[in-house]
Amino acid sequence: MSSLEHSTSASDGVAGFYSPVPLETPVARVMGAGLSGLDPADDLERVEQARMIHAGELMSVHSWELVTAVDGPGTRMTTFLSGCPLRCLYCHNPDTLDMRRGTMVPTEELMERMLRYKRIFDRTGGGITMSGGEPLMQPAGIARIFEFAKANGIHTALDTTGFLGWRCTDEMLANLDLCLLDIKSGTEKTYKALTSRELQPTIEFAERLSDADVNVWVRFVLVPGYTDSPDNIRKVAEIAGTIKSLDRLEVLPFHQMGRDKWHTLGLPYLLDEVEPPSSEETEAARAIFRESGIPTF
Ligand code: SF4
Repeated sequence: MSSLEHSTSASDGVAGFYSPVPLETPVARVMGAGLSGLDPADDLERVEQARMIHAGELMSVHSWELVTAVDGPGTRMTTFLSGCPLRCLYCHNPDTLDMRRGTMVPTEELMERMLRYKRIFDRTGGGITMSGGEPLMQPAGIARIFEFAKANGIHTALDTTGFLGWRCTDEMLANLDLCLLDIKSGTEKTYKALTSRELQPTIEFAERLSDADVNVWVRFVLVPGYTDSPDNIRKVAEIAGTIKSLDRLEVLPFHQMGRDKWHTLGLPYLLDEVEPPSSEETEAARAIFRESGIPTF
């Protein structure tokens, strides 16, 4: 996931009953919620855990939180799953990268919790958002959750880079109301330098979202020295512009809120010296997207 919005902790493990901010204001974010209220299944053998994740019966979860005005419309239950195939240099949640570090939670536990908030979702026009890490690392569980949500009239959102888009079946797309698609960079070269992976799967997933008419919000993180050249931004705009069902694009300024986690985990953090972009620089990037006719925030 790319979102750099900000959350705060609250009681009940529910981080971020935010004071609502307008949707058009992307704000810095790191996740900080816990697992309170969820009953983990940590006593299972590793092999059994793997089998159950594969079957969609168990999910490796980092945390969950209830938030307003981020991760989609209305008040949302956002679940951060563990595991990600990318290695973004700026990742603000490096503790989600390894699926084995997550807490094993029965998928039905998550479903029960979602149902508990249905009245809030209905009242606010919200729903659920599956995020990460990369949620498509656990496609079977996502498929079950989306099917369950749609059967219960709950709006669904998926926060993904699309790198594993091939794991998202047509049936899952049919149960998906909104995709928060992270386009990390516009060229293969910079995408690879920033994430260590390839851009092409994201482009292909964007095409599928467009063909399936799934509402899309593109997210783009502006990282000085990496993604901020006008050329690169135009390339991202080109990709986003091919999505017929594109609703909006958010430019999220790089921040240093994840730096301490890298140091705590003993991982090499290469962006120590990178300053967040100024508001003028962020606005200049937004202007380039707007020139392409993309509603940009
Ligand atoms: S490494 Fe994964 S979780 Fe971290 S920012 Fe990149 S896509 Fe998101």
